Amino acid sequence: MIGIDLGTTYSLISRFTKGEPKLIPNLFGDILTPSVVGVDEANDFLVGKPAKELLSVDPTRAIGLFKRDMGLNRTYSLGGSMYTPVELSSIVLSCLKNDAEMYLEEPVQDVVISVPAYFNDDARVATKMAGELAGLNVMRIINEPTAAALAFGVVKKDEDKTVLVFDLGGGTFDVTVLEIFEGVLEVRASSGKTFLGGEDFTQNLFEWVLKELGRHENDLEKNKKWANKLKAQCEAAKRQLTEADQATLSIPNPSGDENEKMPELVITQQKFREINARLLDQMYSPLNRVLSDSRMSKDSVDEILLVGGASRMRCVQSLIEDYFKQTPSSILHPDHAVACGTCIQAAMLKKDAAVQEIVSTDVSSHTLGVSISRKIGNKHEHGYFMPIIDRNTTLPVSRVEEVATIEMGQTSITVDVYQGESRKIENNHLLGEFKVEGIPPRLAGEEVVAIRFTYDLNGVLEVEATILSTNKSKS
Ligand code: ADP
Ligand code: MG
Repeated sequence: MIGIDLGTTYSLISRFTKGEPKLIPNLFGDILTPSVVGVDEANDFLVGKPAKELLSVDPTRAIGLFKRDMGLNRTYSLGGSMYTPVELSSIVLSCLKNDAEMYLEEPVQDVVISVPAYFNDDARVATKMAGELAGLNVMRIINEPTAAALAFGVVKKDEDKTVLVFDLGGGTFDVTVLEIFEGVLEVRASSGKTFLGGEDFTQNLFEWVLKELGRHENDLEKNKKWANKLKAQCEAAKRQLTEADQATLSIPNPSGDENEKMPELVITQQKFREINARLLDQMYSPLNRVLSDSRMSKDSVDEILLVGGASRMRCVQSLIEDYFKQTPSSILHPDHAVACGTCIQAAMLKKDAAVQEIVSTDVSSHTLGVSISRKIGNKHEHGYFMPIIDRNTTLPVSRVEEVATIEMGQTSITVDVYQGESRKIENNHLLGEFKVEGIPPRLAGEEVVAIRFTYDLNGVLEVEATILSTNKSKS
């Protein structure tokens, strides 16, 4: 009963054993494995800690943060070859699998992997593929905040309450409202941003430091080593600010000469908040939305769970306190909770007696639908979005909508599947398309195609279209 938290910056693997989630250390004895892949001089893969170290000295030989591109069509160059985010993720997963097998002295096969609730269909499918490439059987994809809430539910079994999970990781931000009553854990709504995380705070600090030093971004191309050392200093300073009112950055010498001391730079809590004000502001709209989608008010939230390494930042904690007028709970370990939840979900799927009273339900995080034409006056205007499954519908769900032909003798319909919240498809995200052919030619509007959307427990979508008059289907 194994679970994996495949994070943007760090990944973890856990096992549910003797009625409890336990984290499995890697070969270095660490619980956190950096989600970084590199190649050494002999062109062999390095994963985790050694890859992260390599990244800081030679960024051309290692890659991180590729989770942000899951489901996108991009490739990275590494040691002369090109890799997709799926391949890089599968290398991280293989490493976690191998290390866990060494530790447990038994094969690891069936797993649950977590993804940000806000991940779209493409990114979920990509995550599953990465698992399979790594030789794993992915029993379920679970949303990270749901996993965190499961970890919480196991700790606080007998309390019924409304919980808000605030997950700020390295690259993504997720907020989820859940209700826990009598062992049933029901996700009400989820919202978030795929490009907002702790790494963006580090980047802003880095840019501030460059400005203070009178340097430009284009100086960095020439001196990548220096830039990376400086970035590591910014990361350290950001973490220091979690503990103290100010942090001191020692600036590496651009000439590489370590004997020649550079001046130090001090960053105060106040300044840090100021340079990250725009990032902090971006947190309000997911917070507002998750509350309105779940028809909750701020004060009906009984407990706020902080998850994700970056939720430790003081500026984030005070934002939450100001917003909810309550102190977040510190019962969960921000780095471990999601991983613990994934193996709890695995135990639930394997019907482990220790979790038999827990039931959980999740929701779709995006509205899904198709592109249609609207009749405006005598003309058909293309590009309108017809939702079929609304966001925050409880999973699994299957819904059908019917569309009619719009032209005389029309024999085919293209089904363009979109995800998004806008009335116009141009603002939404195209997930896929297919053509339904063989419609009997008749008058406009006389033929009808039923489009069925099925959203499974992994948050993965299937679409099927049926011509009603001939009963022919296509998916
Ligand atoms: P992910 O799940 O996206 O991999 P994590 O939950 O592991 O992310 O969080 C990683 C982020 O948390 C990084 O941006 C890291 O800099 C930040 N972080 C970790 N520890 C601290 C800390 N003590 N103070 C501030 N930020 C931290
Ligand atoms: Mg995470």
